[in-house]
Amino acid sequence: MVGAGLAGLTCAKVLHEGGAEVEVFEASDGVGGRVRTDEREGFLLDRGFQVYFTAYPAARRHLDHGALDLRYFDPGAVILRGGGREVLSDPLRDPGALPSTLLSRSATPADKARVAALALRCLAGRGPEAAGEAGGEDASTLACLERRGFSRRFIDAFFRPFYGGILLDRGLSASCRVFSFTFRMMARGWAAVPARGMGEIPRQLAARLPEGAVRLESPVEGLLREGGRVRGVRGPWGEREADAVVVATEAPVAGRLTGEKVPEGSVGEVCLYYETSGVGAGKKVLLNAEEDAFVNNAVEISNVSGLYAPPGRRLLYAVVLGGFDLPDGELLRRGVEELSRWCPRADFRPLGLRRIPYGQFAQPPGVHATLPKNRTSTPGLFLAGEYTVDSSINGAILSGERAAREVLGR
Ligand SMILES: Cc1cc2nc3c(=O)[nH]c(=O)nc-3n(C[C@H](O)[C@H](O)[C@H](O)COP(=O)(O)OP(=O)(O)OC[C@H]3O[C@@H](n4cnc5c(N)ncnc54)[C@H](O)[C@@H]3O)c2cc1C
Repeated sequence: MVGAGLAGLTCAKVLHEGGAEVEVFEASDGVGGRVRTDEREGFLLDRGFQVYFTAYPAARRHLDHGALDLRYFDPGAVILRGGGREVLSDPLRDPGALPSTLLSRSATPADKARVAALALRCLAGRGPEAAGEAGGEDASTLACLERRGFSRRFIDAFFRPFYGGILLDRGLSASCRVFSFTFRMMARGWAAVPARGMGEIPRQLAARLPEGAVRLESPVEGLLREGGRVRGVRGPWGEREADAVVVATEAPVAGRLTGEKVPEGSVGEVCLYYETSGVGAGKKVLLNAEEDAFVNNAVEISNVSGLYAPPGRRLLYAVVLGGFDLPDGELLRRGVEELSRWCPRADFRPLGLRRIPYGQFAQPPGVHATLPKNRTSTPGLFLAGEYTVDSSINGAILSGERAAREVLGR
């Protein structure tokens, strides 16, 4: 196995459960790939603001939700626009937010009825295992929202910053299948984080592997090939022969290592971390509905799980979609500037930031039908990774499960 992200770890777990001997070579100093949590001054800093949807069908097969000690976000969001804020929520799950949701000027009564109808439709039937697996024609998220009749005001005030935060793209150019699947996940379950940070998810998967199965700081530099088949891997640490090699890295690395065709393009974010005196949004996400938004969305994550901050202190994540080339000082300063406009009485002390230019592989309409298969045409070579399913925790886990089944011949 090459790579100890969620795809590689799940693949290794299923192979191990199937009786195979597995060794995972990971280039970095920890497991989790894009899902890791660092600790600084007692604050838990996830590598980018990410949430886990409890309804993820493939993830539910491999993760023990109880042991993750999941903590839940409140449904809906606080929308910031024109110096004011209003709450938009699901009145069935969040009755306290009913009056503000009904009075909200961001959505017309027809918008609210359409959201309710969409949510009801999501509750019916089983639905696909992953975003890319819905049938029919595909289009951009924006085109689908327009086709469904949502007002421009609601699209700009809610869908742009909300799905901008999920799809890492305020333009809503990603496939509508990703939008529909995510909407379905929200209707059928809860958005959550493990009490001790998102890094608990890969740690739980890794704990199911035999001791020593994951070799950290062991990059793979090439594949060993012989007679048209792949028979192992090599790196600065030496060579390792194997009956099967599963490459479970990010798409660009997988393309370089294997020569297989992988999807191109990516979307990303810069995540800013601040200690704060409090922004008064509880467990809801704050969405910036301004046209010239710098911070797209923010959340006081220590309200969702108190363990993200030392006792009596508060931690805020703020997401910028872009700005990768700006110096650290400017990113953090502009973040404070914007947050202070929303919450003039709050303090913000910068704790750091993380640039993540390769957050997710780009998912334009139609891309899911073109993604590579887990079994390549080269004997002995398999692919795992979100980019074989869809960019999500669920997609990565499903890809690992499927790659393992291919290796085991099941
Ligand atoms: C900022 C951000 C926000 C996101 N938000 C969400 C969200 O809210 N909800 C959601 O469901 N999903 C979200 N995602 C997507 C989700 O995190 C990813 O789809 C998933 O983690 C990808 O897992 P993976 O195993 O396919 O790849 P990765 O996690 O990238 O794992 C690949 C692994 O391969 C290793 N590797 C690379 N090259 C080599 C080499 N040569 N040798 C050995 N090892 C190598 C890497 O170090 C890494 O550990 C988000 C992602 C990001 C970054």
